[in-house]
Amino acid sequence: MSEARVIDGKAIAAGLRGRVAETAAMLRERHRITAGLAAILVGDDPASQLYVRNKARACAEVGIASFEHRLPGDCGTAQILELVARLNGDGRIDGILVQLPLPRGIDPGQVMTALDPAKDVDGFHPMNVGHLWRGEPGLIPCTPQGVLLLLRSVHDSLSGSEAVVLGRSQIVGRPVAALLLAADCTVTIVHSKTRDAAAVCRRADILVAATGRPAAVTAEWIKPGATVIDVGINRIAAGGRQPLLVGDVDFAAARRIAAAITPVPGGVGPMTIACLLRNTLIAACRRRGLPDPL
Ligand code: NAP
Repeated sequence: MSEARVIDGKAIAAGLRGRVAETAAMLRERHRITAGLAAILVGDDPASQLYVRNKARACAEVGIASFEHRLPGDCGTAQILELVARLNGDGRIDGILVQLPLPRGIDPGQVMTALDPAKDVDGFHPMNVGHLWRGEPGLIPCTPQGVLLLLRSVHDSLSGSEAVVLGRSQIVGRPVAALLLAADCTVTIVHSKTRDAAAVCRRADILVAATGRPAAVTAEWIKPGATVIDVGINRIAAGGRQPLLVGDVDFAAARRIAAAITPVPGGVGPMTIACLLRNTLIAACRRRGLPDPL
């Protein structure tokens, strides 16, 4: 049997960033709009600092203004909510992202709910979650949006496909399931209490893995000819060298069974920031009554 086609998330994300840059330039020239994205970073977690820096760099590359707001790790919820309220009312800001995780003692749900839903470019506000499940326009979470774009790069239509989503988190599994449902798939969500997860997954034409369990999805979980999207990003020790980055799927084994598969790294990962930039432009246009640009 021939090997699966590898879905090049890096190239697809680069294409999307290019379209975002063109649209940002068009908005500047035609409408005098410079879209703006604010990031709230609480505490000094090095990984979070790196993510925020990468997002600022990505904004600069496509012509979106970025604003970084740092708060000390021991600030209280009230101080964060005060900043959110200020950014909600700031006309230069079209998107607000709150870098997660927040320090212990701060309820991320409370902070997310305080965001203006029209600026909630992560798509985590309950209003946007509701829009997603109702199939209404809202702001769609970035990683799930990336998953759908990757699927659409290999499938003209997803209608009628058996889709299985492994994982039911608020940020990946559930929104991915909602998007697949909106695309007329027959959707099953598998989680840690599912009986015989492998047998359920073997039914899937479309398998999306988001469990955070390195290489747990083996060849026996995959239907021949399926499309496999691996959301997992797991760092595993590599004997004194740089930790290895692996997904939730045993790539080498799955590649011999599936028809198409995303690699880790270079699959879903690059799509997330590209979709964040896209959401920022969508938010900028909607706030001004302009049609969705991308
Ligand atoms: P999470 O909040 O830990 O959720 C994991 C989900 O997997 C839970 O719903 C859990 O079920 C389920 N699960 C765990 N073990 C399972 C098993 N043996 N069989 C079936 N289901 C099982 O993780 P997450 O935030 O969704 O992230 C998942 C993975 O995606 C992680 O590796 C993360 O690093 C990665 N990720 C990547 C990106 C990206 O940009 N590419 C973005 C976000 C996350 P229960 O609900 O029953 O506990």
